[in-house]
Amino acid sequence: MRRDLAYRWFCRLSLEDEVPNYSTFSKNRHGRFRDSDLFRWLFNEVLRRCMDAGLVKGEGFAVDASIIKADASRQRGVSGDEPVDWSEPALSTRAVREYLEGLDEEALAETLPKRLSLTDPQARWTAAPAGPAFYAYSTNYLIDTEHGVIMDVEPTPAHRTAEVQSTKTMIDRFEAQFDIKPERLIGDTAYGIAPMLAWIVEEKDIEPHVPVWDKTERKNDSFSSNGFHWNEEAEEYRCPAGNPLRSEWRAFKNERSHVTKANTIIFRSRQTDCATCPMKAKCYPNTAFRKIARSVHEAARNVARRIAATLAYQRSRHERKKVEMLFAHLKRILKLDRLRRRGMSGATDEFTLAAAVQNLRRLAKFSSQGPPVMG
Ligand code: SF4
Repeated sequence: MRRDLAYRWFCRLSLEDEVPNYSTFSKNRHGRFRDSDLFRWLFNEVLRRCMDAGLVKGEGFAVDASIIKADASRQRGVSGDEPVDWSEPALSTRAVREYLEGLDEEALAETLPKRLSLTDPQARWTAAPAGPAFYAYSTNYLIDTEHGVIMDVEPTPAHRTAEVQSTKTMIDRFEAQFDIKPERLIGDTAYGIAPMLAWIVEEKDIEPHVPVWDKTERKNDSFSSNGFHWNEEAEEYRCPAGNPLRSEWRAFKNERSHVTKANTIIFRSRQTDCATCPMKAKCYPNTAFRKIARSVHEAARNVARRIAATLAYQRSRHERKKVEMLFAHLKRILKLDRLRRRGMSGATDEFTLAAAVQNLRRLAKFSSQGPPVMG
């Protein structure tokens, strides 16, 4: 570096200035900036410049997650329910300390992982579609679909629930920082679970261009719940034979909410209606009456269903590919298919820096072409 003019120019050093000691770079890489938030500042600064250059429209955002292997051997792990003596000196690493500091036993007990890494316990044991399972983190991107600029990035363990939840973190953080909220949010089926759709529609007033997570569709030709008509005023369903399905068939002394643990309300048909019904074989061949579980967030699910029938939705499906392309670039060109650093803080550093680099690349590309023509 001492003689490299390009580096001197980049670091604003004159020919006479002392260059930093070579160990400075290794110390920087190994956590010097960990508690300073420097990488987040850098990411925001690059993003601000992308916005100033007119590369962000702020109308349609897309969200997705990509799994990145952790720096943790598959062999150095234990079964998720096996007790571990974390006080052993051999386990006294920064990644383990970070894991223990953030440990919330109650939350953890709900989702015990199948295997726990002794090297990097915050990484998640993940089954790949083809091939052996491994420990991993996920990088979550929120992008503006106009030019594929990354609006926010958030690391999570490689776990669907955590990935979906990170969308809220990113949208809220971006809105707080830049006072911009998209008109539509594009995502795959994982983001189409009822509570997430309710948050998008009711709390944020954003159009969900997201397929509804729906397990009620039936593969055979029997009636799925979509064939039952919902009557909002009467708060009941009507079955294909025109008979009602209600959440209660008799008045209770004390009012009941009927909301189940899964946040649904069960609507049942009347046995006497069904007993002589010619459609019974197609409706519920194996039970005494027909029932439908209606989500308490059904209104938001219906908004998503209506949007899914529009041409704008078709365009959104196409635009979603821009996030996938960024992940492909991240792994193939930036070679970030495996982390070098451990712990959630290591993943945060690497993912944030990589996203900043991808935005810089986009900015450089458009700067060399001149300002984009806004439609
Ligand atoms: S079996 Fe019962 S619920 Fe099903 S269509 Fe007939 S009356 Fe309606």
